[in-house]
Formats: sequence, structure tokens, C-alpha cells
Amino acid sequence: MIVSANTVPESSVPDSRVHGIDLSAATVSTTGVSEISASCLRCGRRLTSPPSVSAGFGPGCTRHFRRTAPTLPGFTSQQLEDALELLELGGIVPLRGRRVWLTVGHRGATYRTAPTGQCTCAAGVHGKPCHHVAAVRLVVV
Ligand SMILES: [Zn+2]
Ligand SMILES: [Zn+2]
Repeated sequence: MIVSANTVPESSVPDSRVHGIDLSAATVSTTGVSEISASCLRCGRRLTSPPSVSAGFGPGCTRHFRRTAPTLPGFTSQQLEDALELLELGGIVPLRGRRVWLTVGHRGATYRTAPTGQCTCAAGVHGKPCHHVAAVRLVVV
């Protein structure tokens, strides 16, 4: 369902975006990387367009994700679609030198996700593959 922002009071808009921003700020202080939102999380290039800044990735890397996703083993096509969506919405933030990432769930919940396959979401804690791991893996491979 698509909710028009015009008809929804600001207070009832889902706050996953706000979480993402808060987490970025936390990352800045723990890693010493300045202006993390203004450079690509994958290649480090400066981001200039607002959509790239909010996603955290430049257009070149976004294309790379789209190309690479179908080749990623162990995930369903739905999980790969969700992973791409997560990347494009700026839903992942590196922690601890990129070995652990914070990922944002559909309802604004945040999970800790490692490219090696661990994730604190419901699927991940049961040892199942999830789109958070797929998204993180797309960035680090
Ligand atoms: Zn990039
Ligand atoms: Zn997960």
C-alpha cells in the first residue's frame, strides 16, 4: 500500500528513516569517518545527488548491486529483491570496521548483520538466510 505523505500527519510516518540517520551519526563517532553520508559506503567516492546521499551509495555501485545480486548463491530471488531495496533505501550502516552492519527492518527494527551470515533478525537467529545478509554481502564482496 502506498500512503501519500500529503495525507498523513508527520507524527504517524514510519520512523525507519530516523533510525537510519541516528545510526549513521553513531557510526561517525565510533569509526572516526567524517561525513559518512556524503561518501559511498562501498567505494568511498563522494556522493553529490540527494538520492545517492540518502541511499549511501553512488549510482555506479547501485548498478553493481543490481548486476551482482542474481549471482549471489544461497538466497531466493525475493530475498535478493528485498536486499536491493534495503540498499537503495539507505537501510544499512557499517559498524566495527565493516565486519558487522546495522540493518533496518521493514517496521523500523534494527538488526546486527555480518557478511559471514549471522543476523539478529527472526530468520537469522534460526540460522536461515535473510535479505539483510544478502544486502551486506553485496556491499562487501
Ligand atoms: Zn560507490
Ligand atoms: Zn536478517
